[in-house]
Amino acid sequence: MSVNEKMVQDVVKEVMAKLQLAAGASEGKGIFADMNDAIAAAKKAQRYIHRMSMDQREQIISNIRRKTKENAEILARMGVEETGMGNVPHKILKHQLVAEKTPGTEDITTTAWSGDKGLTLIEMGPFGVIGAITPCTNPSETIICNTIGMLAGGNTVVFNPHPAAVKTSQFAVNMLNEASIEAGGPENIACTVGKPTMESSNIMMKHKDIQLIAATGGPGVVTAVLSSGRRGIGAGAGNPPALVDETADIRKAAGDIVNGCTFDNNLPCIAEKEIVAVDSVVSELMHYMVNEQDCYLASKEEQDKLTATVLTPKGLNRKCVGRDAKTLLGMIGVTVPDNIRCIVFEGEKEHPLIATELMMPILGVVRAKDFEDAVEKAVWLEHGNRHSAHIHSKNIDNITRYAKAIDTAILVKNAPSYAALGFGGEGFCTFTIASRTGEGLTSASTFTKRRRCVMSESLCIR
Ligand code: NAD
Repeated sequence: MSVNEKMVQDVVKEVMAKLQLAAGASEGKGIFADMNDAIAAAKKAQRYIHRMSMDQREQIISNIRRKTKENAEILARMGVEETGMGNVPHKILKHQLVAEKTPGTEDITTTAWSGDKGLTLIEMGPFGVIGAITPCTNPSETIICNTIGMLAGGNTVVFNPHPAAVKTSQFAVNMLNEASIEAGGPENIACTVGKPTMESSNIMMKHKDIQLIAATGGPGVVTAVLSSGRRGIGAGAGNPPALVDETADIRKAAGDIVNGCTFDNNLPCIAEKEIVAVDSVVSELMHYMVNEQDCYLASKEEQDKLTATVLTPKGLNRKCVGRDAKTLLGMIGVTVPDNIRCIVFEGEKEHPLIATELMMPILGVVRAKDFEDAVEKAVWLEHGNRHSAHIHSKNIDNITRYAKAIDTAILVKNAPSYAALGFGGEGFCTFTIASRTGEGLTSASTFTKRRRCVMSESLCIR
């Protein structure tokens, strides 16, 4: 196929996708006007899924993986266009990662004890219909990732997505159901509503057929879910510090931290949000960030203007979240070349651009007098979220002390934060990191119930 032919095909595909949405989201598969209807449809589909073999479930998941890769660019473009946040090339990578590295049915395993008294198994069974709340920062990535894991565990899912990412979320739900039907599965493995609201969210959280709620988002939603009286998986906010000590390869640390921080314009909850560096390495680190890593060093006056622009009395200025560094600097009247990808400065840990989870490529550097002081400052900056933290050090004792003190679900050593999602690091991918409720990086097994199956006095054949 010639390049031109491929380009035309891609454009046609994209236009068709947009027309489909413009025609009304309720036309899509799995999209309902009423939350109660969405739950009823998901319940019906779950009965079907539960009867299917693990192999049949895996066939649907394989097709979801294939379609996610095929639609990665469309989903990435839609996400950026609809939310105004993030960037297309990185969102394409995120979708490819979800498709390739989200665990499927292989994550559902059996534990067995066999002995004189017989055989006992722990089997992982489905909850049924799971209610999921998803963020606008990784909208379709979270929906696809959640669905693969929940389906592998034998569940179906009803989403109440963020209203700012409703079209992208609905496109993903539609694609998931198409994948199921094409692979011989039922419609409505994933469902949602045409207009998600707090009301539809409340209906979902209180519905008798929802056995488990998985909430991915800021502190508000996790608290709401944990107060609902249902079992909840709470994947909440973070403010990950990157600690740099005097044993680190400072040049590499500068590159890794800026790469992690600027990925998808700092939207991932795991991304480096600030640096804490010991006194002796601060100048060298700053030198590499500014001279080799395309960072812009903001003056005190520019920091004040940025603070007044990106923060409002009510919190984050949503028009600034997920924007690139050049755009943010443009908002305060500073023009920089296109290559500038991050804004850096030195400040105290209490600086509002450092203490707040901004989700913007703005990296404040906090100076610590020694390693102990650095750990104390980093722990303070993580705000007890127990979410993610990073360290650049070759001293194993230091790494261990930091890990114990900060106690986060994720701790990346000597790499960009995204290594934690299996991108340039080992391990599986997830977009729901259950920091508050302790499940950590969720996968299919997280969405199952443990059941004990006992056969007494027999079936032990040793
Ligand atoms: P958000 O909290 O504004 O919204 C997340 C979801 O929760 C949306 O669907 C929203 O409609 C809903 N919501 C918000 N308050 C609610 C309430 N009181 N009751 C019911 N539903 C409610 O977050 P966002 O801006 O979409 O995403 C960014 C935030 O999410 C950041 O804090 C980030 O750290 C966090 N996040 C965490 C993870 C994780 O895995 N731990 C992943 C992605 C994002």
